[in-house]
Amino acid sequence: MSQEFDFIVLGAGSGGIAAARRAASHGARTAIVESGRLGGTCVNVGCVPKKVMWNASHLAELLEDAPGYGFEVTKLNFSWPHLKKGRDKYIGRLNEIYERNLSNSDVAVIQGHGRLMNSNTVSVNGLEYRAKHILIATGGYPIVPNIPGANHGITSDGFFELEDLPTHAVVIGAGYIATELAGVLHGLGSKVTMLLRKNQLLREFDSTLGSTVMSEMKKSGINIQTNTHIESIENNGARLEIKAHDKSVISNVDSLIWAIGRGPLSENIGCEVAKVQRDSKGYIETDSFQNTSVKGIYAVGDVTGRAQLTPVAIAAGRRLADRLFNDKPESRLDYDTIASVIFSHPPIGTVGMSEADAINEFGATNIKVYQSNFTNMYYAVTERKSPTVAKLVTMGSDEKIVGCHIVGDAADEIIQGFAVAVKMGARKQDFDNTVAIHPTAAEELVTLT
Ligand SMILES: Cc1cc2nc3c(=O)[nH]c(=O)nc-3n(C[C@H](O)[C@H](O)[C@H](O)COP(=O)(O)OP(=O)(O)OC[C@H]3O[C@@H](n4cnc5c(N)ncnc54)[C@H](O)[C@@H]3O)c2cc1C
Repeated sequence: MSQEFDFIVLGAGSGGIAAARRAASHGARTAIVESGRLGGTCVNVGCVPKKVMWNASHLAELLEDAPGYGFEVTKLNFSWPHLKKGRDKYIGRLNEIYERNLSNSDVAVIQGHGRLMNSNTVSVNGLEYRAKHILIATGGYPIVPNIPGANHGITSDGFFELEDLPTHAVVIGAGYIATELAGVLHGLGSKVTMLLRKNQLLREFDSTLGSTVMSEMKKSGINIQTNTHIESIENNGARLEIKAHDKSVISNVDSLIWAIGRGPLSENIGCEVAKVQRDSKGYIETDSFQNTSVKGIYAVGDVTGRAQLTPVAIAAGRRLADRLFNDKPESRLDYDTIASVIFSHPPIGTVGMSEADAINEFGATNIKVYQSNFTNMYYAVTERKSPTVAKLVTMGSDEKIVGCHIVGDAADEIIQGFAVAVKMGARKQDFDNTVAIHPTAAEELVTLT
């Protein structure tokens, strides 16, 4: 006998929980299947613990600056175990809140690994559950390369399990996760080496952002080695030795972190049996309404490979639930112009197109860029200095803003408001007509000439 629902969700992460609760709020009999901890990547091994760690390393910067502001800072002792304990306790509380919210929303939680049997049946722990609508929201996993000794390294998941601050950490990768983890480790006191396959950090963003952060990271003491291909890793006692293609060796490493990208968790969930189509990398193919190739089966979030961010998964899940259970046939997420932040040192806030993409799409003659490089007034009295860059990419004679990029202190908080303006189609003139707030870093964006 199988149990009947209207909606079954595979995966209780950002997208799955949002979709399930929204569906239940519309009266759908809903179940959610989770093989791990409630909350998924973001809560357990992603945004949340990462931001706590970034806060800690940001605090370390502020403490370094404090003498400039007249504070006498005596010897500082940082305890990673203390921070980890507090962070894990906080996440434990969030797990409980998710459990309570699901229960209060009348969503049945089924613990175990879910697998599609056909277009309307899911099996978990040998039991079968049926629903007219099934959502795949199984997320992704960190990739480990297939090279000798790769298993001596850890991934971002393992980073959050570290019981103490590594003395020498090597972070391999050039994306936002590699950049963030390297920055945190360095800020908290590790010796950090970054190994990049190519020559630039954050290549998928406007190049000004990656080059500014890379130069700041180098200046702060992070050793960034470019154009490096790892050939093998050896474990000499408790220390690792990393060998590169050019025969160079990095030794005495106690923590190697792979941050070379993520893949979709779409294996072993019955896609072949249910005939759900995936692309060559395993991402589940969806149309703009999150429909998969099978009627009645949908997918949202990282497993679809589109804009892999928590608020994206949440928004797509909620809109899908509104479409299916609240009589809103046109409800769907617009994936255009999604803002994001990189918690680097200094942080980045970005929305819209990079200068290069805008030129590619509209032609160089249609693009005008405004940029200001300056030092935030915060550094007036500090020994440490860090730059801010504010950049607008405008298009056409009415200078519609198609890209807005900031790197510098508070960029992480500044960008959200500007994202509203860019999403609404603001022109440069609209920014100019907005009276500045002084003295702030954000005012640069409305005073660019
Ligand atoms: C280190 C790191 C930092 C990040 N920082 C940010 C950030 O600052 N801001 C941001 O917006 N995003 C960030 N992200 C990305 C964000 O975490 C993801 O985009 C988001 O979690 C995706 O949500 P999801 O619902 O698609 O999948 P997930 O949140 O990954 O949830 C999927 C869930 O499905 C479960 N599952 C998988 N297969 C099965 C199965 N067969 N049966 C049952 N359950 C299953 C998994 O256990 C998991 O709980 C970060 C990610 C990482 C790794």
